[in-house]
Amino acid sequence: LDPTGDNFSPEEIDIEKALRPISFDDFTGQQQVLENLKIFVQAANQRGEALDHTLFHGPPGLGKTTLAHILANELGVGIKVTSGPVLDKPGDLAGLLTNLDERDVLFIDEIHRLSPIVEEYLYSAMEDYKIDIMIETGPNARSVQINLNPFTLIGATTRSGLLTAPMRARFGISSRLQYYDTELLSTIVQRSAEILKVPITNEAAIEIAGRSRGTPRISNALLRRVRDFAQIKGNGSIDIEISRFGLQALNVDAHGLDEMDNKILTTIIDKFKGGPVGITTLATAVSESAETIEEVYEPFLIQQGFIMRTPRGREVTELAYRHLGKTRPGTQPG
Ligand code: ADP
Repeated sequence: LDPTGDNFSPEEIDIEKALRPISFDDFTGQQQVLENLKIFVQAANQRGEALDHTLFHGPPGLGKTTLAHILANELGVGIKVTSGPVLDKPGDLAGLLTNLDERDVLFIDEIHRLSPIVEEYLYSAMEDYKIDIMIETGPNARSVQINLNPFTLIGATTRSGLLTAPMRARFGISSRLQYYDTELLSTIVQRSAEILKVPITNEAAIEIAGRSRGTPRISNALLRRVRDFAQIKGNGSIDIEISRFGLQALNVDAHGLDEMDNKILTTIIDKFKGGPVGITTLATAVSESAETIEEVYEPFLIQQGFIMRTPRGREVTELAYRHLGKTRPGTQPG
């Protein structure tokens, strides 16, 4: 199970695209964010202007990329997609920017990973739709300023804390996406099942939703795996029994915590007496990068009340002990 989708096969990427909502009406949840965006889009459309630059932040798989595509669609404009690590040189960015039509969207995923030179180059493009480009080489080399069409930059980041202050200040709209509750996720599961043409009971949709770490990408991934179990071990449709069977076989527990979540909790309890433990030490102990723990695992464990962040590091809560059937040292068993 991969909340980031980074390790998806080409086939999985295609399915994910097929399941992606394309309009405001298709999109479930994030109500507050959506209501505001609808107004901003309507206003920009009425004025015939580009939408303000927009930043989406929050853990992976919650719909940042999906919303960028929806915005382009609702603005009735084109979208070009790239990501921070891919944009190596200012020249790469200049190529993209000069090819934008009026009001188009440029989507930059992982915008916190832009190189400082590219980032600086982006400032004037965002601010007054102008960039400098170098023409000719050698003694004739000179820089000329060119005007861009007004456009909307949409940035997505899992780590808004890593964004520089000048970058952050250039976004007129900034929205934080939240984890989804089980009810919203079960609606998403039902919708995806319909697209995949697999019958599913209400109860089964809720079961899958409740074990999805609050994340639509995981709901969809679990649905596809459970669909395989239904096809091979069952009669092709998804009911509660086949979902439980499938989810157990996938090692997803009742809270939706996956193997790494549980490994993190177990490690803090068994090796560090429940914490506090620093993030780098913890990362080494569970053989995962500190960045991934901070971006992907920790936010959900904190939101669900399994972990606390203290000035001295991460500590597990009573709930984590109970979840793993362990007793906190110094407390009475039972
Ligand atoms: P992010 O960019 O935040 O990592 P994505 O926008 O790529 O996440 O979403 C991952 C998948 O989850 C998408 O394929 C989409 O089908 C699904 N998804 C995300 N948010 C929603 C939603 N609100 N309703 C329905 N499906 C969603």
